Amino acid sequence: MESSGLYVAGRGSAPNTAGYVELDASIMDGATRTAGSVAAIVGVVNPVKVARAVMQSTPHVMLAGKGALAFARDQGLEQVHEPDSYYVLPVGVYENEIYEQKHGTVGAVALDSSGGLAAATSTGGIFGKLEGRIGDTPLIGAGTWADDDVAISCTGMGEDIIRAGGVISIAYRMKAGATIAVAIDEMLAEVKRLGGDGGVIAVTKSGEIAMTYNSEGMKRAAVGSSCPLTVTTFE
Ligand code: ASP
Repeated sequence: MESSGLYVAGRGSAPNTAGYVELDASIMDGATRTAGSVAAIVGVVNPVKVARAVMQSTPHVMLAGKGALAFARDQGLEQVHEPDSYYVLPVGVYENEIYEQKHGTVGAVALDSSGGLAAATSTGGIFGKLEGRIGDTPLIGAGTWADDDVAISCTGMGEDIIRAGGVISIAYRMKAGATIAVAIDEMLAEVKRLGGDGGVIAVTKSGEIAMTYNSEGMKRAAVGSSCPLTVTTFE
């Protein structure tokens, strides 16, 4: 998804107000509770691969800016050599709109056959963002979360998601007895109360899948041993 240029992530990103593309991504493994993320990284093709390398090959959770790029280079991860020709506007975004605070994100959640849960999220953030702006996506617990019970990834207005307590608040609502549907609805209602909108994808340890949003639409898909491939945007 990052490499396609179709979404607001990886190749499909617009420059910040200083004129260059900075990206955020994160990943978390629920069983081991390990996580990695990169914030405001410049010049890599797949920020989520750098996040995974942070998780697997460093004692840290998050690397930012030029340190994150240096790490990606050391890891041999693919670089963007010609940013002017590489980056494209994602589907549905036009040249005259790139400073209009449009935004988007790609995310994935997974449950494997041994019950392991994982989540990952990657974004170009908000178009027209200030240089150095970091949203919810690379913050573990805000844009991405996985534990033994649930894996969650979200999209939406990052500032409001952070101020609403992030997706970890869904996991804690569930630990307090809420169903996944109620837990997500409450979190998204709080995002809305704070002025934003968003969407959440999640899967539980029992294989329950949730894909809920209070934005205009959310491109989403699900597949599993007891869930035939479903792809939709609205509805
Ligand atoms: N959450 C992302 C950010 O604020 C944007 C989005 O998901 O639409 O950076």
